[in-house]
Parts: sequence; structure tokens; C-alpha cells
Amino acid sequence: MTLDTLAPAASDGCDRELAMSSGHHIAVIGAGIVGAMVALVLLRDGHQITLMEPGEPGGEQAASFGNGAWLSPASVVPMSTPGLWKKLPGYLSDADGPLVIRWSALPGLLPWLLRFLWAGHSVARVEATARALSALLKDAPQRHLQHAATAGVADLVVQHGLLYLYPDRAAFQAEALSWRLRRDNGVQWTELEGPALRELLPDVDPRYGLGIRVAAGGHCLDPGAYVAALVRQAEAEGARVVRARATGFVFEGARLAAVRTDQGEVACGRAVIAAGIASAALARQLGDRIPLASERGYHVVLAKAPVRLSLPVMPSDGKMAMTPTRGGLRVAGQVELAAVSAAPDWRRAELLARFARRMFPALSGDAGAEAGADAGADAGGIAGVEAASPTSRWLGHRPSTPDGLPVIGPSLAHPDVLHAFGHGHVGLAAAPATAELVADLLAGRSPAIDPQPYRPGRF
Ligand SMILES: Cc1cc2nc3c(=O)[nH]c(=O)nc-3n(C[C@H](O)[C@H](O)[C@H](O)COP(=O)(O)OP(=O)(O)OC[C@H]3O[C@@H](n4cnc5c(N)ncnc54)[C@H](O)[C@@H]3O)c2cc1C
Repeated sequence: MTLDTLAPAASDGCDRELAMSSGHHIAVIGAGIVGAMVALVLLRDGHQITLMEPGEPGGEQAASFGNGAWLSPASVVPMSTPGLWKKLPGYLSDADGPLVIRWSALPGLLPWLLRFLWAGHSVARVEATARALSALLKDAPQRHLQHAATAGVADLVVQHGLLYLYPDRAAFQAEALSWRLRRDNGVQWTELEGPALRELLPDVDPRYGLGIRVAAGGHCLDPGAYVAALVRQAEAEGARVVRARATGFVFEGARLAAVRTDQGEVACGRAVIAAGIASAALARQLGDRIPLASERGYHVVLAKAPVRLSLPVMPSDGKMAMTPTRGGLRVAGQVELAAVSAAPDWRRAELLARFARRMFPALSGDAGAEAGADAGADAGGIAGVEAASPTSRWLGHRPSTPDGLPVIGPSLAHPDVLHAFGHGHVGLAAAPATAELVADLLAGRSPAIDPQPYRPGRF
């Protein structure tokens, strides 16, 4: 594929403020959910867009492909909370837990880990993080419903609510801080016990006695296909999509002139880095040292799970998303702190499958045929019948900053390049609001969301 050779950047010679408010040629680097949303929103602001991606948009290489598919306004609780440090030795030794750290990766990860622990050292700090996450998440389902409809894939996003499952009230109360943070940020829920819970989840193991339903939550039925559709929509609205890997930047004086790729240079006046876990290396070329680690996660899909499930569920004792998707029951979770390049440890995927079997006994055998016999085919999520062994498994990289917040805003040394990465556990949900913030910043408008918490210079 031939790319444009270098041409003068659109903003050359312009007054900077004026340039910021007029249309630009903007290179968006990476076509995961964040890059796809950024491209779409910038197009609608009148910019000319080149979206560069070395893989298939929404393909398996992207975290956006295999995530838990939750679009949750309730995902405001950061991973690092007070007291977490006490649990770290356990995480290092319990190979079957939801969080593991590979010993070999520990020395390299230590600076990130220390910042991670510090980010959760006080309740006040965690409250601030929750507020900043909420600003990106609170309208996530509505925003996605709208984007999906415009892209012609309205059937891929639904708002059936989300359910957190607890064995009992004591287990729920043990997470009082999390629920207080959610309540403080406007999340509402209803409690379901006894017959009401059984009616909603007829196949769940009886050890779960309490469900907390967040009705405002939504989910995506096929995140990979959704990203692909958004990229097709961007193309239909005028974006140029090129199969290329960004490798660097070309400046003329202080101004960006082009993005260098493995296929040639793309002339542009602005660029947005939205390359997921690969973003930090690109940012570093600009002189920005952003601590970004991969919280590696896994999924398994049980294509014909004999389980009636009309909404996504998260068990408190498993900390994984069980989501009814177009491909079947997707079980996504695990945090494995290890090098990006380290080989997958598929035992982690098997842990997810094993937990799912414990949670839904029908997955373990005979009960399945009976439960599955009743299962309809609601695209919102009743998975069908038959076998319950994983039909696919996947490893992906959550692009995570130690403070649990994404990096959104201009590069410190080269403000023609904006960062839009580091969304960790919430990138699918937070992508539309991120894109709007990027658009506001590029247009020089007063942003609807306060950009301060996400500024690249905070590290
Ligand atoms: C197991 C798991 C469960 C999750 N569950 C949820 C959930 O339920 N809800 C939620 O909101 N989030 C969830 N997440 C997090 C979410 O998936 C990520 O935060 C989000 O997908 C990040 O999107 P992204 O576009 O920044 O990165 P990615 O999706 O990784 O996309 C980056 C793209 O950039 C491309 N790229 C890389 N290098 C270059 C380069 N040099 N030039 C050009 N392109 C490049 C890549 O090929 C890739 O396609 C989960 C993640 C995991 C792993």
C-alpha cells in the first residue's frame, strides 16, 4: 500500500488558535475502540482523518476484541484501593487467584506497582479517581447505543442492565466502599433476593443469595464486530483507513508534519495516539514517559452454553464478567501482570471456564440438556444448548496506567500530538466520552469533561 509522501502540514504558518478551530488532517494511530471512536467524532467535527492500523480493525490483536463487553456506569471503582498492599504477597503465591504477578516480571514492574499501590493509598484519592472515571462512564450505554445505530449495527449494543452477584449480604457489605463510590457518582441499583433472583437467573448455583442489579448498564454483543463496523462507518464518512504501523513522527520546527509508518509517511497537522498497549512507546518518542503496563486478561467463550442469561453477571467471589454475547457465553477476566511478549498461560483461561462451571452447574453436565431445552434465542443473550467446553480462548492486554485513569490530552513537548490511551479495565465503555474530550481539546472548545485528571503530565 502506498501512503502519501510528505506534504506540508495543514497548520503551517497559521495562527495556532485559529488552526485549532478549523479542520485539520489528523492521523489517528490505532483502530481499537478508542481510535475508531476518535476518528468518527473528529470526522463529525470537520477534520480530515487518516486512521492507521496494522491489523484488522477490531481484530484479535486489540484489547477491544476480547473484553468482557460491559458498558458500565458502575465501573468507577479503581483496582487499587486502601489495604490492597496487604494482599500482594498472596497474589504472588496464589496461582489460582484473580490477580497474579509473574515473578520474572516483578523487577521491571516494580516502579509501576509502587505507583499503583500509592494510587489507592487513601480513600480520598480513590474517591477522586472514581469521580474522574464516572465522568467518562456515566452515559456510556446511551452513547454506544447512538454510535451503534449510526453505524448500522444497533443490534450489537443493548441495555439490559448488569448484575453483581453475592453469596449473601455480608459479602455485599464487605464491598461497602465500592458501593458507596458508585452511589456517590449517581449509580442506582436494586437488590434481588430469593425468588426474584431465581427468576432472573434460573440456572445460577444456589450458593448465590443476593443480586445487585444496575439497570442503567449495557453490554455489547460482539465488541470486535462493533469496532469493525465503527471503522467502516468512519470510512463511509470520509476517513482514509490504511493498513500501517506508526513508527514515529516527523516535525518541521515545532510543528508536526507527518506520522512515519512502516509503509511510508502520512502527512498530517495533528495526530492522536490511540494504540492501546503500544501507545507508551510512541509517546516516549515525543519525550513523554507514561507508565503503562499490560494487565493481561483472558477470555473463554462457551458457544452453546446451556444457561439462561439475559444480562451480564459478575460474581463477587470470581471477579470476572460472564456476558451473553453473539458468539455464546463469554467469560472474561483475570489480571496477570507479566511482560506483553510473555507466552500466554492458558491455565488462566481454564480457571475462568472452571469458575463458570461452578457458577452454572448446568455447564458441568447432565443438567445442561434440561436447562438448555428451555433456552430461547434472544439476541440480547440467551445462549443455546449442548456442550459446555470453551470454543475459543483469548489473551489480551489492558493498557493500564498505575492510577487507573486514562491519559487524554496533548503531549507535553509536542502539543500537535494528543494522547488517548491507558483505559485499563474500562476502555470499551469510556471510548465515546474520550473521543468527545479529544475533539473538544483539538477544537480549542471548553471541554464538556474536565481534562485535568487525565493530563499526560501528571506522572
Ligand atoms: C479480559 C478483559 C476484559 C475487559 N473487560 C472490559 C469491559 O467489560 N468493559 C470495558 O469497558 N473494558 C473492558 N476491558 C478493557 C478494554 O478492552 C480496553 O481498555 C480497550 O479495549 C482499550 O482500547 P484501545 O483502543 O485503547 O486499545 P486496543 O483495543 O488494544 O486497540 C489498539 C489498536 O492499536 C493498534 N496498534 C498498535 N500499535 C500500533 C501502531 N504502532 N500503529 C498503528 N496502530 C497500532 C493495535 O493493532 C490495536 O488494534 C477489558 C480488557 C480485557 C483484557
